Formats: sequence, C-alpha cells, structure tokens
Amino acid sequence: MSDFAQTVKQQADIVKVIEGYIRLRKAGAQNYSGLCPFHKEKSPSFSVHAVRQFYHCFGCQASGDVFSFVGKIESVTFPEAVRIVAQKSGIPLPKREFSSPEEAAGARLRTRLLELHETATAWFEEQLRQPEGAVAREYLAGRGLTPEGIKAFRMGYAPDSFGALRDRLSGMADEETLRASGLFSAKEVATATDGKPQFGHIYDRFRKRVMFPIANESGRVIAFTARTLETGDKAGAKYINSPETPLYSKGMVLFNLDKARTSIRQHEFAVLVEGQMDCISVFLRGIQNVIATSGTAFTEQQVALLRRHTSQVVVNFDPDAAGSNAAEKSIALLTEEGFTIKIVTLDDGLDPDRFIRERGVEAYTKALMGARRQSDYLIERARQMYPGASSEQKVKAMNFLLPHIRRMPEKLAREQFAADAAQKLGIDSAILRAELREAALRRRDRVEPRAAGLTEVERVLLRALAITDPENEPARRLAMQALEEQPAWFEHLGTFAALQALAGRQALDPMDAVEDPAQQALLAEALLAETKAPEETEVQSAIQENEERAIEARQRELRALIAEAERRGDFAELALLTQQKLELDRALRKLHGQKPPEG
Ligand SMILES: [Zn+2]
Repeated sequence: MSDFAQTVKQQADIVKVIEGYIRLRKAGAQNYSGLCPFHKEKSPSFSVHAVRQFYHCFGCQASGDVFSFVGKIESVTFPEAVRIVAQKSGIPLPKREFSSPEEAAGARLRTRLLELHETATAWFEEQLRQPEGAVAREYLAGRGLTPEGIKAFRMGYAPDSFGALRDRLSGMADEETLRASGLFSAKEVATATDGKPQFGHIYDRFRKRVMFPIANESGRVIAFTARTLETGDKAGAKYINSPETPLYSKGMVLFNLDKARTSIRQHEFAVLVEGQMDCISVFLRGIQNVIATSGTAFTEQQVALLRRHTSQVVVNFDPDAAGSNAAEKSIALLTEEGFTIKIVTLDDGLDPDRFIRERGVEAYTKALMGARRQSDYLIERARQMYPGASSEQKVKAMNFLLPHIRRMPEKLAREQFAADAAQKLGIDSAILRAELREAALRRRDRVEPRAAGLTEVERVLLRALAITDPENEPARRLAMQALEEQPAWFEHLGTFAALQALAGRQALDPMDAVEDPAQQALLAEALLAETKAPEETEVQSAIQENEERAIEARQRELRALIAEAERRGDFAELALLTQQKLELDRALRKLHGQKPPEG
C-alpha cells in the first residue's frame, strides 16, 4: 500500500464511509450492522468493526477494509477507491507518483494511446457522415440501427485508404507510438543484427470497414472491431479486431460492461450473448444489462470482472453455437466459479439480434424470463442426444451429465441436479443412482472447499495474534511463540494460513496481514465476535488443547500404520512406529499432567 493510501486509511472512518451507502445500526460496543449490499438478504448479517476498521458479511463472506468496500460497491480499481475515500474524507489528493521510470513511461504511453483512440473514434464517426460513408450507413440501417444507436455506440467508417488515418494522427505521436496503438500495420522488411525485426512505414490497418469501438470499463475506447464492406476476393476476413496492445487485451475485456454495469446491478443478473452485434441490438431496445463474450471462451479475468457486479447470468448464445467449444467452456468456467446460470433458447433457432428485431422486445423479455435452469437445460440436451429408454442410452446420457454436476461448487446444487437427472432420465438402476449420488457428494478436486466454521481454539488463537494494544502483548507473544516453535501442531487447522500470516505480521494491521480472502473472512468472523482480548491463561489452554488434538490425530494415524505393518510382517517398520507412538503417549500424559486440576 502506498504512503498516501496508508494516510487515507488512517484518517478515514469506515463507519462513516459505509453509512454513505447503506443504513447501519449500532450492534455492540465496537460494531455496527446492516443489510449487506453485496448479496440479497432480509435480516442483517453485514457487520462493520469500528475499532479495527473492517467490514464482514456472515452471509456472503465478503470482507475487507474501507478501500475494498468502496472498490466493490463502486466497481472501481484500488487506486480509484483510494481517491474516492480520500475525497469523501476531505483528504487532499497528491499528484500521481510512480515507483519506477518504466512505470511512468508505461503510464505515459497508455495515456497517449487513449488519446489516439479517442481521436480515431471521432474521426471514424466523422467519416461515416461523409459521402463515402454512404455504403456503411446503408449497411448499418440494414441491420436495424438508428442514428441514435449509431451515436450511442460511436460507430464509424474507415475509408478505403492506406494513409488517411495515419495523416490524421501523425501530428499527435511518433511512429513508434502509432505502431503500438494497433491502428496501423507495417510490413516486416528485414531483421537487424540484434535479432529485432525491422518494419517498413506504417499504413492504416482498417480500410473500407464499419468500425465498432471496444471500450474499457470506464467507457474509454481501447480497441476496435471492424466489419468489411467489400464483397468477393478483396473482402478479406469479415471481422478483424485490434491486435493486443498496451491498452487492450482481448481476454481482459467484457464488451459493453461500461454501459451495462449499472443495469446489471439493478437487475442482479447479466444477460450474456456471444456477438457484439447481438449485444448492441439487445441493449438499444432497452434491455441494458447485456454484455458479450465476443465469440471466444471466457477467461478467468473476465469472470472476475463480472463477479464484481453480479453472480447470476442468463446465457443466450446462438443456437447453432450452443454446443460449440467456446460456449461450453464459458459456461463451465462460470459454473466452477459459483455463478448461477440460466439458459435461453430462442424459438426457430434465431440469434438474439434477429429475434429482437423480428419479434420485438416484449417477446425477448418473455424469453429471458422463461430461461431454464442450467441443470434442466443440460438434462434436456442429454435426452435429445441420447433418446430412448435402453440402459445403454441412459448410461451415455449420464456420462454426459456427470462432469457438469461435479463442477458445481455448492453441494446442495449438486444433489438437486443429480436427483433431477435421475428422475427425468428415468434412472432406476441402483448402480447408476449410486454413481449420481457420488458425483453430488464429491466435486472436482481442483477447487478447494471453503474452510468450515471456526473452532473455539482457532477463535482464541486468531484473536490473540490480532492483539494490537501493548497491554495485552504477553498473550500475543504466547500464541506467536507456539506457532513458531511447533508449526506442525497447527497444520491441521483450517485457519493455518491466517495464523501463520498473523504470527509473522510484525507492525502490520491484522486484517492487512492476511491476504487470502477466505482466510481473511474467517479472521473477520473471529474478531467481530470478540468483546475483549483473550487472557494469557485462555491462550495457554487453547494451545494445549490444540496440541492434544494434534497428538491424538497423529496417534490415530500411527495405529493404522502399525496395523498395516503387522499385516505385512514388516518388523523393522513396526518397531519404529511403536517407538513413535510411545513418545506421543508420553507427550500426551505430560500435557494432561500440566492441566490445571478440574472442578
Ligand atoms: Zn453479504
């Protein structure tokens, strides 16, 4: 965190900042509670810790500091969140500083490229209005676009010229910068002695094409999609896109998110279509929570981008592409990331653009409302692909469904899916049913299950390690030493990562020391429940109890290994294991002896 961010964090009051967004009520000596803005709920499970300056939701596990809250609710990046909090708290903003000359140069280049794209966009728009743009205007009108729609999406026309855009932009930047913009092409003419390719002069990349700008989340143009207006041999690819540039990386952008994000939040779901034209068409007819994948499979970055706004998606891919790899991969990734997915199939195999133009927005809204749950959709597909009642067909249908079931992170959803599949496919074989149950029980190993609730021992240790006042320092020291000396005794705990991070945090704020969000949420849970710091005796008995549990677990392991060694008749191994077990027995007796007498 920069010095400025630190200053802002120290001066801002998280309670005041959050109260600017939601209503909070005092709920304890140190905390406030209210309805969580990040998930739907009727009774408040959202808490703000006034002393430790963090928030935590017991419902959706969202937690973090004031910047994380503002970042989430405003859908902005960390630096933007810092600026917003500073402004709300009346802290003057510093001039932007960069940590290295390279970083400063990179930022300068991106600023310059944004300017070039802005000028290019305006210039393409202007060309569309020129006599030469008639053919492009005709094309757009043919696709049902009105002048207002064209203006809203800033569509334009790139004339049939190799140098017109270059001439327009050449006064703004040197050739190297122009080349980096992706708006131009250049032939590789030779390779220099240092191995770097040498390029000839640049020329306009987009010629005689309709230009569709691609904007980033703040609505600034960072790239283009260009559709050809040529026919026949000269046409080239129907669509070409800007190449990857310092501004634009295909896998990091969701088309139309800048315009759709407010509506996505209001409606609590996003409509996901494949084509940019589908997206524009649906948006302009009033369904504004629509975004497009632009035809390729979703990346993890795109999923992360979307998650900041919603976790519910209605997928409306082209019917002929529904089985395509990209569509299936996108759905699989969203499922794995815990999104709730519904699927729309439009009548007569129409794509969203044609459907909404031919049947109107009401029919489309109705189709969206009638979207089927992903599980129902998949079961239906399985039935269509493997029709008939033979057990062979049923096995095939099930094998199609099993990977989808395993992918769902929520156990309840998997169980429901498996039960539906068994019922709708008419599976009455005990073996097949057992396999379905098994799939519901266990999911893919790839995704780690969220740590279960906290044990009392963990609560005490987390609170002890999070002590910040010097008065209670001895209790903190006790827990820290235990973790440093015998880390193995703590490895089995679900909060081991948090405990370790806290033990080594030094002067760092406890909530900042734990970086993993799931671990941070568990820490928040422990800290919100506290009324005062734990006493030394409390910490001591938690350490002791934990050690006992760890030893007992190791004993159970050893007993199994000993039995196994006996079966094999491996006496050397047996002697070794027995020795270990005796040592553990002794350690355990010693621990019990240390315990204060009961009663
Ligand atoms: Zn929540």
